[in-house]
Amino acid sequence: MHQPAITELAAADPEIAGLVEAEAKRQYEKIRLIASENYVSTAVLEATGTVLTNKYSEGYAGKRYYEGQQLVDPIETLAIERAKSVFGVEHANVQPYSGSPANLAVYLAFLQPGETVMGMALPAGGHLTHGWSVSATGKWFRSVAYGVRKDTGRIDLDEVRELALAERPKLIFCGGTAIPRTIDFPAFAEIAQEVGAVLVADIAHIAGLVAGGAHPSPVGHAAVISTTTHKTLRGPRGAMLMSTEEHAKAIDKAVFPGLQGGPHNHTTAAIAVALGEASKPSFGEYAHGIVANAQALAAALTERGFDLVSGGTDNHLILIDLTNKGIAGKPAAKALDRAGIELNYNTVPFDPRKPFDPSGLRLGTAAITTRGLGTEQMPKVAEWIDQTVQAANNDDEATIERIAGEVKELLAGYPMPGWN
Ligand SMILES: *Cc1c(COP(=O)(O)O)cnc(C)c1O
Repeated sequence: MHQPAITELAAADPEIAGLVEAEAKRQYEKIRLIASENYVSTAVLEATGTVLTNKYSEGYAGKRYYEGQQLVDPIETLAIERAKSVFGVEHANVQPYSGSPANLAVYLAFLQPGETVMGMALPAGGHLTHGWSVSATGKWFRSVAYGVRKDTGRIDLDEVRELALAERPKLIFCGGTAIPRTIDFPAFAEIAQEVGAVLVADIAHIAGLVAGGAHPSPVGHAAVISTTTHKTLRGPRGAMLMSTEEHAKAIDKAVFPGLQGGPHNHTTAAIAVALGEASKPSFGEYAHGIVANAQALAAALTERGFDLVSGGTDNHLILIDLTNKGIAGKPAAKALDRAGIELNYNTVPFDPRKPFDPSGLRLGTAAITTRGLGTEQMPKVAEWIDQTVQAANNDDEATIERIAGEVKELLAGYPMPGWN
């Protein structure tokens, strides 16, 4: 059963309650390898489900536009102080509704429409909001994109520098959604400085690794740090913008009143709770555990002949190019989901296939690490992935069904926060 219990909801709206219960069970029975997902703690879940959702608080602590902020102010201040302490930053804004609006606020803070932004191309592993053509950030600003080298699958910082010198962006984004390797913040900072650009480190995927000391920190290199709070950081759905004191006013003004109205106070409280968890030594073990699991899984997949972009991983993320396995990403992802292994199909760099039917799979180990799986289970997970991909190629539904049963059996030994 969902934990905390949803008995009132079940009585008032059995239709929604039934779907929520079924989703909790689904999360309990699946090996969840979607790189942007996690399991939040029951404490974080409880914070998101509080009366704070009833309150309007436009503005910032001490300068609100509505009365009755006696308790919201200290909650938001606690979230800010914890963010500053966990990441070692001078300024934090915890109000962005999610990662995409957080990034849009950065444009509003530093760019006029039509000015130039540079970010990683979406098919190479960047995010839509780093100036990709279909995004508002690519339509309202002039954007130039860097990628990865074909031979290494890694960012070529010489290419980034040449592009920056030629195009003179005012804003440079580093970070992305499908980057299996460490981001070289000092090198990006040097390039940004050389061309007079503001460097934004978008650490949405790796924030938990940074907080737990399992990935180098962008602090001291990037003027602005953008992150979601719900990926490896293991908080509620939300986002934060962090910066040096120099940019604090511009960031705050861009978030409110520039882009948003009232902050989601229940989310703010849950962010504070998650940051409290992230300040504990056990969070460092979790962060290092994520990387250890990803590297063990990468090694086991490589042994089974899977072709990993860049040859492996430094973080939580693995990108598989399935071309040599004779199957595309989408049918493989769908078969794996039936086998109880949840992940997403993904483009790989220089993908000859279409984005909606690409060649790759993206995997991440944050959720399974939270669940308690360790490196000793990774060879088994790789075996199941391998057998499912073969079964999908042979229309062998019986094998897929057998694996789904085995997955359920394994996971029964690992409690899930949010489920009792
Ligand atoms: C997930 C992500 C975002 C966007 O976050 P949403 O909360 O989905 O809007 C932005 N940037 C990067 C690098 C991300 O991975």
